[in-house]
Amino acid sequence: MTPITQIVCFSCANLFPDMESNEIICPECGFAVQRDLYQRLLSYASYAVGFGYHYRLAYENQIHKQQGRVRYALTFDQIWVFAAVAALSGIIGNASYDLIKMVIRKIRSKRVQIAVIPDDSEFVRILESDERFSTFLQYIENFDTDYRQGIHFQVAQALIEEMTAHEFARLWPHNNDGTPQRLSEEELRQIYKKAIIVVNSREKPGKRDFEGFWENINTPYSSKGRNTRTASKRAKKAAPQALSEDITNKSAKPKTRTTLPPIKKRGKKTGE
Ligand SMILES: [Zn+2]
Repeated sequence: MTPITQIVCFSCANLFPDMESNEIICPECGFAVQRDLYQRLLSYASYAVGFGYHYRLAYENQIHKQQGRVRYALTFDQIWVFAAVAALSGIIGNASYDLIKMVIRKIRSKRVQIAVIPDDSEFVRILESDERFSTFLQYIENFDTDYRQGIHFQVAQALIEEMTAHEFARLWPHNNDGTPQRLSEEELRQIYKKAIIVVNSREKPGKRDFEGFWENINTPYSSKGRNTRTASKRAKKAAPQALSEDITNKSAKPKTRTTLPPIKKRGKKTGE
């Protein structure tokens, strides 16, 4: 996938340049998030959309067309990763189907100011078709539940191999000049083992990671006023809450601006 160079605000869905600070603060709405949480969510989302959606679709097409196994090196715009964060905020957090869609539309409207997203791109198609959009959400949810669940065993096998290969490449040590180190067979075996462990033990985000998401979704991009109250509230909560906070605490639920049912109950269309 293409390297991610922009930051997405988890509250107003604004996109902005990365200032590489520990606390990421949105210049539009003032929403703040700790970098480690941001990176953890982005990393999980990029797996979910990469392997759980793009690779899965590609391998499902292969099986459908009864092609022999072809391996891919898929690339996709970072907007897909942001869209997957929005999807996960409904699958794991409390965002409704329509709120997720609203967030993704807003991200797209900002993204097209910086990158070209053709009108006939798959990304646009999922936004224009309820069926495709539901499939997108379903695949992300399947990945989050169990990437092998409900999918053809050959597709599942291909996904496991892709993810292991990805981790294997990531874990392979490099020299200072960026070239991969020469390794013994035993060292390669050890890296391979580690890659399998990483694939099978990836940490999933929890409900509290999505606390306060999209509260400022109605902030227009033109607004320069910073909502510092939200920022400081979030900043205080972001770091030390990890172990002790009661995750069932009602006040921890993000206040979404729609009263529509949560994503799991979707099915009825609500005039899109
Ligand atoms: Zn914002």
